Amino acid sequence: MNLKAIHKDLLKWYLSHKRELPWRISQDPYRVWISEIMLQQTRVEAVIPYYERFLSHFPTVKDLANAQEDQVTNLWVGLGYYSRARNLHSCAKEVMDRFQGKFPNTKDELLSLPGIGPYTASAIASICFEQKIGAIDGNLERVIARLLSLTVNPKKEGKEIIQDFANNLVSIGEPGSINQAFMDLSSAICKPKNPNCNDCPIQKYCLGFQKNIQQTIPIKEIKKEKVEIQAYGFILVRNQKILLAKRAKKEWLAGMWDIPWNISLESQKEISKIVKEKKSCTVNRTITHHKIAFSVYALPSAQNLEEKIIKKVSSPVECYRWFRLQELEGIHLPKPTEKALGQLWKHLEDTK
Ligand code: SF4
Repeated sequence: MNLKAIHKDLLKWYLSHKRELPWRISQDPYRVWISEIMLQQTRVEAVIPYYERFLSHFPTVKDLANAQEDQVTNLWVGLGYYSRARNLHSCAKEVMDRFQGKFPNTKDELLSLPGIGPYTASAIASICFEQKIGAIDGNLERVIARLLSLTVNPKKEGKEIIQDFANNLVSIGEPGSINQAFMDLSSAICKPKNPNCNDCPIQKYCLGFQKNIQQTIPIKEIKKEKVEIQAYGFILVRNQKILLAKRAKKEWLAGMWDIPWNISLESQKEISKIVKEKKSCTVNRTITHHKIAFSVYALPSAQNLEEKIIKKVSSPVECYRWFRLQELEGIHLPKPTEKALGQLWKHLEDTK
């Protein structure tokens, strides 16, 4: 494959078609880093307002490092995957402590920071420091797999082939621009469904297109069957206050307030030993390959009941606190809890 010709045509296309994005106005690693973390699992259009708001609150890595964790997570509300916000905060502190406020410029050092994985490290190293590394995420994987007509799994057998191809291409020069050119190409032209090959600047090199198999690449992984889980949540109510538990560090949704939960295979019968009179609802949620049915009970609190329930909490808790119902509006709660509170709200207000 003629790498130099692909490089030339891709770069030419990028320079005349690149998207104007707020994190592209400079090569400041702080700005690029924030954008890359926000863009994980989230569309560009959705990220832009969050990005601008975040940067206006924390214009430098020092400002972010000095912030309270709650200030950071509050600006994240709506973006989901909150561990990203907490890692962002820890990472800013490490950049201040270990690197005197300056982002390291090698992929390996970047990888040593919290929340920075291989793709993000490669993107920062290439865009901000001109390191010759291909930044491969699912989008680049798709474009390169089509270009090379790869009929093996790009996440497994094809992984090294794709990385080598990208590294060789960016080694010719302008690694940051080439990586970003692929990002823009994947979003505007080489989309997951119906790639617009007629407008593609590298169509003449594309083996997938030549064989007319581009729509079947990348090959799909067989999806895992969903595992069904039953979870039990308890809204303990006393004097118009409810009991919330702060999830312990390093746990799922660490640092968030939530009602006490039991996620295990305990039977309804066992739960009914604790819960006698109840007002309940069920909310369903799918998280990766788990299909979870959350049964939530609103209960008037009594000392022995509180003890029993705290004993049943299945994930580690940092502390418990009673919150007035009106206070809940200012607290970011996990989605199933928010939904359950919405359904049981009237009942909670009526409970003395
Ligand atoms: S020709 Fe089509 S399949 Fe090949 S890279 Fe371009 S858009 Fe993707």
